Amino acid sequence: MNFDDTPQEAVFRAEARKWIAANAPKQYEAELSKSSLGRIRLAKEEIVDVGKAWQKKKAEGGWVCLHWPKEYGGRGASPVEKVIWQQEEGIYFKLTSPFQIGEGMCGPTVMAYGSEADKRRYLPKIASGEEIWCQLFSEPAGGSDVAGLRTRAERDGDHWVINGQKIWTSGAHYSDYGILITRTDPNVPKHKGLTMFFLDMKSPGVEVKPIKQANGASDFNEVYFTDVKVPDSQRLGEFNDGWNVSLTTLMNERMSIGAGVSTGFPELFEFCSNLMLEDGLAIDDRNVRSKLANWAVRASGLKYTSMRAISALSKGERPGPENSIGKLVAGSMIQDVAAFALDLQGAAGVLSGPEDAEAAGKFQAMLLRAPGTRVEGGTDEIMRNIIAERVLGLPGDIRVDKDVPFNKIPTKGRG
Ligand SMILES: Cc1cc2nc3c(=O)[nH]c(=O)nc-3n(C[C@H](O)[C@H](O)[C@H](O)COP(=O)(O)OP(=O)(O)OC[C@H]3O[C@@H](n4cnc5c(N)ncnc54)[C@H](O)[C@@H]3O)c2cc1C
Repeated sequence: MNFDDTPQEAVFRAEARKWIAANAPKQYEAELSKSSLGRIRLAKEEIVDVGKAWQKKKAEGGWVCLHWPKEYGGRGASPVEKVIWQQEEGIYFKLTSPFQIGEGMCGPTVMAYGSEADKRRYLPKIASGEEIWCQLFSEPAGGSDVAGLRTRAERDGDHWVINGQKIWTSGAHYSDYGILITRTDPNVPKHKGLTMFFLDMKSPGVEVKPIKQANGASDFNEVYFTDVKVPDSQRLGEFNDGWNVSLTTLMNERMSIGAGVSTGFPELFEFCSNLMLEDGLAIDDRNVRSKLANWAVRASGLKYTSMRAISALSKGERPGPENSIGKLVAGSMIQDVAAFALDLQGAAGVLSGPEDAEAAGKFQAMLLRAPGTRVEGGTDEIMRNIIAERVLGLPGDIRVDKDVPFNKIPTKGRG
C-alpha cells in the first residue's frame, strides 16, 4: 500500500489547499477546532446558516459534491480527490453536517432513480446547500428491520396519499425535501410491498416534532403524515420496488458514515498532555499511558483500515462491507474514551458550563452522543451481522418472516 499522493493528486491537493486558505470562514476557526462529536455548535450563530454560506461559497468555486457529474452541481472529480478535499477542508468540514444526508444518501438515490428533469432541478441545489434533504426511513416498528415499516401510501389518480409516522429523522426540522419509503402493498412479503418517493417537507399534512436528546440538542425528529399528497411523478423507482431503491440509499449511508467516524483519541491525548493530576501530568502516569497505548493501537488500526478503503477507491474499486469495521470499532471506542476522560477529572467531570467546555463539557457531550453513533446507520449488532455474513461468509441471520405476507406476520397492535 502506498500512501503518497500521485503527482496528479498532489497538484489537486495543492489547489484545494490554496483555495481553502483564501476562502475559509476563519472567524469560526477557534470554535470549530474546539468542537468535537456531540458539541459541533457555534456560540452565536446557527450551524445551518453558517454552513449554508460556506457551502454556497464552495459551490461557486466548484468544490461541492466533488464526485458528482458537473451537470448536477458536482466537479466530476475522482473518489480519491473527494477524500483529499475532505482531508484539506479539515475543521471546516464540521460546517457541512446539515448537507451530508443530501450529498451522501438522498442525492445518489435521486441520481439513480429520478427523471432527468428532476436531477437537473434538485441535485444542483442539494450540492450548493440551497435546499436541504432528509431521510425518512426509520419508524417505531421499522429500524434495523426497515422493511417492517407501516407508513402507507395509497394511489389516488395521479398522486399518492401518505399516512403514518417516521422517527429519528435527522435534520427534518430544517429540511426542504425528504426521501420517504412507504408500504404500498401489505398482501406480499414485507420487502416486496414497498415504494419510495421524495416529497416537499412543507406539504400540507406533514408535521415535524423535534426530539430532545440527553445532550440537550434536538438533532432529530418525529415526522407525522396525515393525508399528505405526493404526485406520482415523485415516485423513485417502480411501484413495490422500494426495497431495491432503499438499498442504494443505505449502501451510500454506510459508505459516508464509515468514512469519517471520530474516535475521541486525538482529543483525549491532547487533554492528558495538559491535565495536571496530584502527582504530575496525566500523560506521565503509568496507568494513563497504558490506556492511551491501547487506544493508540486501535486508532491506528482504524486509520489504516480507512486507508485500505481509500486505496481501493484509487484503484477504481468500490469499498465493500468490510467498511462496517470502522463504525463498529470507533463507536464503542469513543464511548470508552469519553468515560475515561470524565473519570480522570474526578468530581470536575460533572461540570458542564461554558468555561469547562474544553474539559468536562466536551467529553460529556461526546459520551452522551456516542450511543447514537453505535445506533445510526446500523447498530453494532447489525454491523456484526454484515461482517459475519458478507465478509466472513458465516451462515445468515434467522429471518422467519422473510416470505410471509406482511399482513400475516403476527404483530402485537397492528391496526
Ligand atoms: C443519531 C441518529 C440519527 C439517525 N438519523 C436517522 C435519519 O435521518 N433517518 C432515519 O430514517 N433514521 C435515522 N436514525 C434511526 C436509525 O437508523 C435506527 O435507530 C437504527 O436503524 C436502529 O433501529 P431502531 O432504533 O428501531 O432499533 P431496533 O432495530 O429496534 O433495535 C433494538 C436493538 O435490537 C438489536 N437488533 C435488531 N435487529 C437485530 C438482529 N437482526 N440481530 C441482532 N440484534 C438485533 C439492535 O442492535 C438494538 O440493540 C438515526 C438514529 C440515530 C441514533
